Amino acid sequence: MKKAVHTFKTYTLWELLKGLGITGRHLFKKKTTIQFPEEETPRSVRFRGLHALRRYPNGEERCIACKLCEAVCPALAITIEAEPRPDDGSRRTTLYEIDLFKCIYCGFCEEACPVDAIVETNIPHYHFENRGEQVMTKEKLLALGDHYEKQIAEEKAEDAPFR
Ligand code: SF4
Ligand code: SF4
Repeated sequence: MKKAVHTFKTYTLWELLKGLGITGRHLFKKKTTIQFPEEETPRSVRFRGLHALRRYPNGEERCIACKLCEAVCPALAITIEAEPRPDDGSRRTTLYEIDLFKCIYCGFCEEACPVDAIVETNIPHYHFENRGEQVMTKEKLLALGDHYEKQIAEEKAEDAPFR
């Protein structure tokens, strides 16, 4: 009997028909897939993306090289070197790097910063093509901060919860 059922299923393409039946049932249902990258799924206000370093409106960098972000980073992803500026003696970073391969996007650096210098933007799309590009240098972070300052300032003003 078992063999007869198997033979029947083989010659009537039973499994194929069963699969087509499932396809047919889902054909007119609401789609759960999206056409990325033209479409995107909604992002939480808690989302933390690429980092950026901010400046004050007069162009002066906010970071005062206090190293709180470096100390609080649980992934040891931040490296800072600092020394006083020769002209005015103010303490500034001579090296500020974040290794994105180590970063776990916890947001502690942003929370710890007393002057809102280091922030995590909501930029979700970025990639690296060469070895070492995952290390965000001070220059790259400041350039991102300059480019997205308006958006960052708006989000800070809104004081988005959980960020
Ligand atoms: S988000 Fe967290 S892990 Fe990443 S650099 Fe900041 S403190 Fe470190
Ligand atoms: S980014 Fe903020 S917390 Fe980090 S060293 Fe600069 S001022 Fe201090």
